[in-house]
Amino acid sequence: MTIDQARVLRLYAEAAHTAHEALTALDQISGDGDFGDNLREGLDLTVAALDASPYEPAVAVAGSVFLDQVGGTSGPLIGLLLSAISRSLAEEPDERDGWANGVREGLAAIQRVGEAEPGDRTMVDALVPARDALVGGEKFADAARAALAGAAATAHIRARRGRASYIGDRVLGTPDPGATGVALLFWALARVAE
Ligand code: ADP
Ligand code: MG
Ligand code: MG
Repeated sequence: MTIDQARVLRLYAEAAHTAHEALTALDQISGDGDFGDNLREGLDLTVAALDASPYEPAVAVAGSVFLDQVGGTSGPLIGLLLSAISRSLAEEPDERDGWANGVREGLAAIQRVGEAEPGDRTMVDALVPARDALVGGEKFADAARAALAGAAATAHIRARRGRASYIGDRVLGTPDPGATGVALLFWALARVAE
């Protein structure tokens, strides 16, 4: 199996455009309304960088873009995730193991920096079920479903991290924007990989 990294990122960018309005609306309820902009901008910059350097490993390009150029809390955290995936893909002979171990390492890095635990209502709540599915050898489509379900389940919890933690009950009924946005990466991966 060969997973075309650039196709994953380009599809993720398309999804970020399609979901932009919804992600903005979610962050208007949970935070300051910029998450849709941050994700879309990071992925647009990634696509531009891939057009300019088509032979660079795409996930590594995306990781650098998010770490260096994307704002918000989410920009650097998504950058850590993508950078860990790119390192793992460069080391692992098996692509499936590369993605699985990269997500595991990236989630660990996000938790080291952001100190969020599962259930704090952050992107960690999409990443934990996705990691568990991938490390457990499940299909990419199952990892995508797990990530989306994890994101949807954040609608039922109050936030303990990030801006939403200042808002209390008002976020109930609305999923976390970051968890929703990160789940779309796994949707794109499943579309390309299977
Ligand atoms: P900001 O709140 O700085 O405007 P964004 O809107 O770009 O940042 O991103 C908000 C998202 O970041 C949240 O929906 C949440 O998923 C994620 N997030 C916030 N704090 C943390 C944290 N400590 N650990 C992991 N993710 C976090
Ligand atoms: Mg925000
Ligand atoms: Mg902000």
